This record gives sequence, C-alpha cells and structure tokens, in this order.
Amino acid sequence: MNFAELGLMPQLLEAITAAGYTDPTTVQGEAIPAALAGTDLLVSSHTGSGKTAAFMLPALQRLATQPGGKGKGPRVLVLTPTRELALQINRAALDYGKGMRNLRTAALVGGSSYAHQLRSLERPVDIAVATPGRLIDHLERGRIDLSRVEILVLDEADRMLDMGFLEDVENIVGRTPATRQTMMFSATLDGVVGNLARKLTRDARRIEVVTSEQQHANVEQIVLYADDLSHKTKLLDALLRNPDMQQCVVFAATKMAAEQIAIQLEESGFRAAPLHGDMHQGQRNRTLQGMRDGRTQVLVATDVAARGIDVAGISHVINFDSPRQAEDYVHRIGRTGRAGRTGTAVTLMGHHERHRTRDIERYTGQPLRIETIIGLEPRRRPTTGKPSFGPSSGPRGGDPRRSRPSGAPGARPAHAGHGAYAPHGAAGAGAGPRSERYQPGAAAPRSRAR
Ligand code: AMP
Repeated sequence: MNFAELGLMPQLLEAITAAGYTDPTTVQGEAIPAALAGTDLLVSSHTGSGKTAAFMLPALQRLATQPGGKGKGPRVLVLTPTRELALQINRAALDYGKGMRNLRTAALVGGSSYAHQLRSLERPVDIAVATPGRLIDHLERGRIDLSRVEILVLDEADRMLDMGFLEDVENIVGRTPATRQTMMFSATLDGVVGNLARKLTRDARRIEVVTSEQQHANVEQIVLYADDLSHKTKLLDALLRNPDMQQCVVFAATKMAAEQIAIQLEESGFRAAPLHGDMHQGQRNRTLQGMRDGRTQVLVATDVAARGIDVAGISHVINFDSPRQAEDYVHRIGRTGRAGRTGTAVTLMGHHERHRTRDIERYTGQPLRIETIIGLEPRRRPTTGKPSFGPSSGPRGGDPRRSRPSGAPGARPAHAGHGAYAPHGAAGAGAGPRSERYQPGAAAPRSRAR
C-alpha cells in the first residue's frame, strides 16, 4: 500500500515525499484511512512506529478541507506528556503541513516563556500541541478556549497517566466539544488507560499493530556485566570508541550522574552533553539541536528528559545505569533504530541487578544477549545468558540460537566476526588492554589489566 491509496491529498503527499517516506508504516496504513473517515481511534503503538504522522496527516487534511468554526481556539489539540515530545510533534505538523497556506500551530509547554505562547494565542490557531500542566495554566487564566476543537489527540496516554496527569487530562477534555473526534495513542490500552479510553471515545476503532517484538527487532540488545563503577566507566569508554558508533544516548539514573558522566566523557575527548530536567528549556533545546546537527556525539540523559527523542543518527543506546522498570528500558532502546535503521542497545548491569535482566526479558519477550569485551571481562563470570522465559512460558518464545548462555559451547554472537564492539583505542582513559573483538564470555581470556 502507498500513501496515495490511503486517501491523502496532494499537498500532504508532496510533504511525505519531501520527508523521504516511501511507504506508510503499519500503524499509518491502519490508522490514516480510519482517521480520515472521522472514526475515534484507540491505537496501541510506540514511539518509532510512525504514530505522529498517523494522526497528524489526517488532522491536517481536515484543516485543509473543512472550514473551522468561529473563534481563535485550536481546531486540533494534541496532548502529550513531555515538552520534547510536544516540540517534536509541533515540528512534524509544520513539516507535513508546509504545503498548506497560513497553517498556524502553537506549542504550549512548560519551561518556555508565557509571553511567546500568549502571542501565539492572540490569533486563531489551527493546531495546539500541549503538555497538560501548561495547558491547564492557560485555561485557568482564560487565555485559551477549547470550544473549537474538532480533533483531540492523546499521545502516549499511558505515560501521561503515569506522570499523574489524569485529572488534568479529564479537566481539559471536559472543555472540548462532545462532537470531537478523539484519537488515543498509548503503549498499552489496558488498565487505567483503558478506563479513560472508554470515557473519552465513542465507538472507537481499536488498532494494535505493533508488538514489542516487532518494534525492537531492529535493535540488537546486549548486556555487559560490570563489577563496580570504575569497571562500568571503562566499559563505557571502550564502547564509545567503537568505530560503528555514530551518535549515542547514555542513560544515567540521576540528574547529577548525567552531569558527572558528561563531564568525564568530555575530559576523555568525547563531544558529550548532559540532558536532564534541571536544565532550562533553552539549554535543552540547544542540546538536542546539537545532537541533530551532529555536533554532539554523546548525550547523557535521564529517562524523562530523553523520552521521545527522535534523532536518526543515534546508532547506540548505552544504559550506564540500568533502568528501574522494564517499561523504561523499552522507551530507552527506542531512541535508536529509528526511521527504519538498525541500532544497538547495551545495558551495563551490576551483578546484583541480575534480576533486572530477567524482568526486561519477560516484559519484551526477547532474550538479552550477555557478552563481555576482551580485556574488560567482569571478575565474576556472567553465568546466565539464558532468558527466563521459554517457548511455552513467555509471551513469545524467542530464537533459541540467540538465547543460549553466552559462554555455552557454540554460542556465537550474531555480530562476532565483524567486530561490532571492537573497542579500538580502548587504551584511552585507562581502558586496559587492546582488544580487537567483542566475544562471548567463556571464550574470552580473563581480564588482566584492571
Ligand atoms: P514516531 O513514531 O512518530 O515518533 O516516528 C518515528 C520516526 O519515523 C520519525 O523520525 C519519523 O520521521 C519517521 N517516519 C514516520 N513515518 C515514516 C514512514 N512512513 N517512512 C519512514 N520513516 C517514517
């Protein structure tokens, strides 16, 4: 199926071609025709699935083909959990809508100036992309009116609820017309999200196209066990010197850790920058722009700050601190392997965190491969590469070849032989002995140099 067959108008098809998209993603193929028909949608999909275009293209088509009612309030309202995501969606609206005359959008997000946002609300707005907190501020001050909303999109609804926005979301939706079309996108459609969906939608079409397995089939997922902080630092250094590394997001558990790691990496000669919630919006925007321009090679980020980041050059995600929840893991690794590319996610795991490996495998239904870097092996031999689920016990069986313990006879990492992790130049920053190839644990010599 191609985009023209989905029923999109020529201006939008031109913008899609200019964006370099040739075929609709699965979620776009399913959602666009239904959205164009005015149906409410409940879509289970993740970032990276092309969901933004799935709701934005039909919304733009409606704006272009139907006159709006009287007033200045937005005709399309998109609610999304984070500032970064909101700015990204706003940019996508302008990109996809560049063939449309006088399209006006407003990004209403926390952390940026009220004055600018108020100016953007002085004239009629077509699309408002907002985080719930800031939109409530504007509503309470009487600066925005939602009575003109024709299409309401709740993006990453599960995340908004996790962040405690349920009341705000209900309050906001209560101020939009009951006749609106509602599209809800969420990683899960169960539990609280399901309850909210039942309240807010009418005869919604449910679309569940992206399984977690499909979503990350293009991301190689690896665990390296680390003895302590100093070992982790050496592993990180070695990984970043991998010649296959284009750009990387390193995840840290706290804002302070993100700052410290970024400083250390800069001192080791990497073009690194931190990204976390204590930075002003302007700083965060500049940092992200640095990633997009390729000036920054390594972004050291916290979970919330990095959510939704969409930079095609991110070839690697490194979990310096392992994620606390399996769900965070999925969001983290979704920063790589974007726009049809492949990616690699490496999690540095302390020995005491072994249970997290199992939690992640259960959640994603995919085995994590346990590896070591020659010369940087952990003192304690990693014994389990075996996923805790089997063909019958887990959501999906997984490939038995890939689920063998890394030290098992015959175990061979998919990339052995092309040296994907050869830590060239690993001698830098005290990384220990030179090694040419990344190999399975038992086959590698024990570390001597640490
Ligand atoms: P999203 O899931 O909306 O965050 O989109 C993820 C990435 O996929 C973004 O970089 C989009 O530009 C890109 N994208 C969206 N639709 C397509 C498509 N049909 N073909 C190729 N890339 C796409």
